[in-house]
Amino acid sequence: MKKIFTATLGTETNTFASIPTGLGLFEETCLYRNGSYGKNLPMFGAPLAVWRQRAEAKGWTVVESLCAFAQPAGKTVKKVYEAFRDEIVADLKAAMPVDAVFLSMHGAMVAEGYDDCESDLLAHVRKVVGPDVPVGVELDLHCNVGEGTMRDATVLVLFKEYPHVDVSDRADDLFAVMEGAIEGRTKPVMATWDCKMIGVFHTTRQPMRGFVDKLQAMEGKDGVLSLSIAHGFPWSDIKEMSSRMIVVTDNDKAKAEKLAKELGQEFFAMREATQPPYVTLDAAMARASTHNLPKPMVLADVSDNAGGGAASDSTFILKALLERKVKDAAIAMLWDPGAVKLAFEVGEGAELDIRLGGKLGPQSGDPIDARAKVLKLGREITVQFGGQRKGVGSIGDAAALQIEGVTVIVNTKRGQCHSLDCFTKLGVDPSTKKVVVVKSMQHFHAAYAPIASEVVYVAAPGALVPDWKQLPYTKVDKRQWPFVANPHG
Ligand SMILES: [Zn+2]
Repeated sequence: MKKIFTATLGTETNTFASIPTGLGLFEETCLYRNGSYGKNLPMFGAPLAVWRQRAEAKGWTVVESLCAFAQPAGKTVKKVYEAFRDEIVADLKAAMPVDAVFLSMHGAMVAEGYDDCESDLLAHVRKVVGPDVPVGVELDLHCNVGEGTMRDATVLVLFKEYPHVDVSDRADDLFAVMEGAIEGRTKPVMATWDCKMIGVFHTTRQPMRGFVDKLQAMEGKDGVLSLSIAHGFPWSDIKEMSSRMIVVTDNDKAKAEKLAKELGQEFFAMREATQPPYVTLDAAMARASTHNLPKPMVLADVSDNAGGGAASDSTFILKALLERKVKDAAIAMLWDPGAVKLAFEVGEGAELDIRLGGKLGPQSGDPIDARAKVLKLGREITVQFGGQRKGVGSIGDAAALQIEGVTVIVNTKRGQCHSLDCFTKLGVDPSTKKVVVVKSMQHFHAAYAPIASEVVYVAAPGALVPDWKQLPYTKVDKRQWPFVANPHG
């Protein structure tokens, strides 16, 4: 009988964000030990559940360690990362001997003193299990894959879809590849090719859609076990930051290397066509003030996406809507626990003078002072994730405030707006608004595109401004597109 060891440890670190990632943020987001969540599987535990189910179906033993994930923010506090790593390693030592290790990580976790946490953790794991035990890792496609990760992981399988609707499907893929290795039927080998480009690649649109479909059609044939595109996470100032192709073949290193380069070149060739059509704040406001289609215009405030580590309290778009006197607009969610507390103090239907947002640093803009009416209040609001991504999450306590023509959802638990529930649970129907602003990079798309006449990605100022030339990189290798027109030449 085989025995596998599983664990989750991750977060996506925006090294430009000012919010530290400490123990409290893990506790608030997802922190369980040895499957202590019981039947209430947390969203970030989805791969663990897949691996357990598939292993137990084969009669294998599963030893599950930590399940820790933090909402993206700034660097992880050093002692917090080290304690989690040491806990996983101690659990692994206690579980030895094992036939395989399965890890669910993000791929862009940076801690104080550790620019590449994934490589560090994998080095520790490899030291415990030795060179021959297969170690399978599932990563978010927004990962910066370091040399250590390529060396110490046996198989890497990344999400293929952005928005990430395929977390469980890819966990299933990883299990299938690892199963062959565990049973000695296959010998996975990996190769990677650095595309040397920085970008954001939505798989909902062409040409990425077709490229992802092509990769999936190639998997499982001619000795190709798995193909992944690492999109990179540009808001991490570390030397590993880049996009790359990762190929896993059955014991054919030369083929893996050749394919990684060929597919990597194909991906690189799409660089211009794949970039999201960002518009400036001014241009977005001009369109919003004249919008008169029956369905709302949905504006994505990509620069203040909590899912990428931003504070989610920036006021640039709200201020612009108020200045332009846009009517019938709604915005979600502004993270301002103080404002929520004051709204609860006066109660539904009351008015108050309030200072909103703009508190967490220059990237949040200035706070807004306004007269607000409290439309609705809610305690511990849970929201269903949009699209096919299963699970519920909490946005904490929240209030719907009316400020002139704009309804503002303020909340106490920082998170991106990817569910219609962020509005509807506070009595606001976004589909009836003229303009809807969501603080999200792309995960809003599955839920909001169906109610929108058009979706506009706004490059407002903020911690996630999608303009690499504005980011004060010091460690990133700038011999990459778009800093260099042809880094491979
Ligand atoms: Zn991601």
